[in-house]
Formats: sequence, C-alpha cells, structure tokens
Amino acid sequence: MKILFFDTKPYDKEAFESALSEYKNITIDFLETDISCHTVRLTKGYDAVCLFVASSVTESVLHCLYESGIKLILMRCAGVNNVDLNAAHKLGITVLRVPAYSPEAIAEHAMALAFAANRKIHKAYIRTRENNFSLTGLTGVNFHGKTAGIIGTGRIGAAMAKICLGLGMSVLGYDKYPNKSLDFIKYCSLDELYSESDLISLHCPLTEETYHMINLSAIEKMKPGVILVNTSRGALISTEDLIKGIRTLKFSGIGLDVYEEEQPNVFENREDDILESSVTARLLSFPNVIVTSHQGFLTKEALEAITVTTLDNAQSFINGKIIKDNMV
Ligand code: NAD
Repeated sequence: MKILFFDTKPYDKEAFESALSEYKNITIDFLETDISCHTVRLTKGYDAVCLFVASSVTESVLHCLYESGIKLILMRCAGVNNVDLNAAHKLGITVLRVPAYSPEAIAEHAMALAFAANRKIHKAYIRTRENNFSLTGLTGVNFHGKTAGIIGTGRIGAAMAKICLGLGMSVLGYDKYPNKSLDFIKYCSLDELYSESDLISLHCPLTEETYHMINLSAIEKMKPGVILVNTSRGALISTEDLIKGIRTLKFSGIGLDVYEEEQPNVFENREDDILESSVTARLLSFPNVIVTSHQGFLTKEALEAITVTTLDNAQSFINGKIIKDNMV
C-alpha cells in the first residue's frame, strides 16, 4: 500500500519512519503541505492518504481523491468533524481513525491549562524573566475542596475527572450516556453543572447538538470566577459570546487548546503573517486567557500510539479485516 502523508511535522515523520520496518507492505511519502483542492492532485498513484485534525476534507476534495483512485483515508486523530463523512461514504472511500491513543495526554494538558489559568503561570513566567518579582494580581484559588464540572465523560473526560478527584475536588458530570462505572461522578443537568462548578472542562465531541453549547445563556448560568477549559473542539464555544462573558468579568481564567477559526493557525509558525481572523488576537488580548495550539495530544506516548494504530488500520484494510471500532 502506498500512502501519501499530508501535513507532516518532524515528530510525525520520526515516529512513522521508525515504526515502518514492522509493516513490510506499506510505504509512505511525506508532504509538509496539507490537503486542499490544489494539493489533492498529488495523490494520483497512491492507495491511501493520511490526514490530521487541520486537514479540510470537503466534498470537493473527496471527489478529487476518488478520481485519483484513493480508497482509504487514514485519520491520525480521534475527532473527524473536519471530514465530510456523508460524501466519503457515498464515494465508497473508507475512513479509519485512531479513536483512543492516550486520553491521559489530553486530560493532563487540560489540567495544565486549568492550573496555569488559575495560578497565572503565564504571567508569572513573563514577570520573573523581566526581573519583576511582584506577586500582585497573581492570586489563585485552591482546587482542593472545589467542584469540577466535566462535560462529556468518555475516555478523556473520565481521565480528567480522575485527575480532579485526585486533587480533592467534587466532580459533577454531564453526558448523554453517563458512565455508571465512574461512581465518584455525580451526574446532573447542564444547568446544575454550570451553576455549581468552579472549573468546567469540555470533553464532548463537536456535533450539531453541541455546536456553540457554551453561549451567552450558558455563560450567564456559570458561577462568577469560574475557570473554563476547552481541549475538545473550538466550535463547542461561541467565541463572540465568550468574549462578551469575559468582558462581564465572569471568568477568573480560561484555557483553550482549541478555538473557532484555529484552522489556518494550527501547527504553523505564523509570526510574520497578518492573521486573517481577529479571533486569536482578541482572545490573547485578555490577561486571563491562555491559548495553546491544539497540542493536547502531543506526548511521546500518544504519538507512538497514533503511529501504531494508524499503521494497523492500513494493514487491516490490506488484509480485508478492518478494525470496525476504528471505522467512521
Ligand atoms: P469519547 O467518545 O470517548 O467521549 C466523548 C463523550 O462525549 C462520550 O461519553 C459521549 O457520550 C459524550 N457525548 C456525546 N454527545 C454529547 C452531548 N451532546 N452532550 C454531552 N456529552 C456528549 O471521546 P474522547 O476520546 O474522550 O474525546 C473527546 C473529544 O476530545 C473528541 O471529540 C475530540 O474532539 C477531542 N480531542 C482533542 C484532542 C487535542 O489534542 N486537543 C485530542 C484528542 C481528542
């Protein structure tokens, strides 16, 4: 199987090249560019493409893939909201993903954002580098004894809930399908979660139902001084409403690993660019907002797991024994 790998970063290439020796019938060519209506033409002669979270896999891109003879899309991620799955299914293109690689990697990053936002680590770091050892304005709260609200208690949400429990927090949860084995979580309505939680962390997928679930009405229900963390998908939060909420001083801190309109920024060094959207700049202008660039997955363990599952997905397709749980 010949795979064309898009949006390659040095850490991807290193991980995939070192694992490839175990997969004798698979070869990979790596491209730094991401897939688009222009670059999709490069897929002629390949059997599969390997894509990631920022790849925009629209209906027209899928048509071009079909015309190039591509039968398989290997998504090296869990969330596939960037793929037009209906169009892929209609064209008979199989889409395989990595449903779980290291839930702890993302949960630990969510807690890192919560800690940083709470104790203002981003500000303290800059201050001490400038020989400013003042503590004014850096007061946080103890998480111990406070309440965490976890929205979406699947793999990552469960890992985050366990971290919160370990810190001595009470844990509230909201999920369409509550997980009864997480007996330390008190499941409740969204309204209750909003009004009771000191820390709210989002871990549900982006669907029509969850699009902009954090809007003005939700924000109004939240406790003053709440800390909000999103490591799931940007469009769970209406950024315009979030900015209005920030201006009402609702939040003591916000940690975003994902945000609306992140697409052109994700994983790119854009320091010399004029950004086409003001969302990032506006969010970064607030002293209590920390933004990271979709790096929740970026641990050695997660990269290894993504590599092995992606190559196993390719091998399972070759063998005609697709791993059903990985098909979307
Ligand atoms: P999962 O499928 O294990 O869990 C998702 C949970 O959300 C499930 O329990 C499901 O029942 C629940 N859910 C579905 N619809 C809901 C709704 N309307 N309201 C409340 N809960 C709902 O998924 P996961 O592996 O825990 O991943 C969660 C999300 O994290 C993914 O969808 C992805 O967008 C994101 N993610 C981000 C990164 C990153 O690097 N920042 C990496 C991986 C995944």
